[in-house]
Amino acid sequence: MCDDREKLIDMFSSTHLGDSLKELSLIYDDVERDTEEFCEEYSIHCTLGCGECCENFMPDITPAEANMIASYLMLIKKDMSLIEKVKKKTSIHCPLYDSNNPYHCQVYSVRPLVCRLFGQCASKMKDGKKIFRRCRFSGGCLMPERLEIDSSEIKTMDEYGLRLQALESGDVSDLDDGVCKALEEVGLISGFLGFDSKTPSAS
Ligand code: SF4
Ligand code: SF4
Repeated sequence: MCDDREKLIDMFSSTHLGDSLKELSLIYDDVERDTEEFCEEYSIHCTLGCGECCENFMPDITPAEANMIASYLMLIKKDMSLIEKVKKKTSIHCPLYDSNNPYHCQVYSVRPLVCRLFGQCASKMKDGKKIFRRCRFSGGCLMPERLEIDSSEIKTMDEYGLRLQALESGDVSDLDDGVCKALEEVGLISGFLGFDSKTPSAS
């Protein structure tokens, strides 16, 4: 499990929030392992430094994913200007995207499921066949344009989505709306536990 997520799970270990972060993190672990194997097997590579999909996109996230991102922003990244940017809701695109940063995503270790799967996972067609389609932004990249997948081992996006939905009953929302709500909830629990969640980071 990644260090950032493990740290958050430990911090909230005595609470319902900690349980929810742990369950979510286990899904992310599986997705990381599966997508890495899938991309290696089918020679799928994003163009180096590309972040087009984030530039034009606002992810839908579940309440558990919102709590994960809010916890990370408040307790690990501690970047108040980024928190304010999310709260202002000034863009129709993801507020966590940074075009000037070579890694682009400012919450990479806790990014939501859809961001982990986009361009790196097969999907299922109506007839049950599994296919992979290259993302529509990836003009010059090295990915195959279309693959038919004939392996029962390969999981599809909907399978991970169902696993995520099974974690909780709350509605999905745009990332900025979901994270704003979660910042309040995580702030209350953090205050109750006595965490310092307000210190901006030096970086
Ligand atoms: S999925 Fe497509 S748009 Fe997104 S980083 Fe990869 S190549 Fe770029
Ligand atoms: S959360 Fe990160 S990976 Fe997802 S759209 Fe925003 S910047 Fe991109």
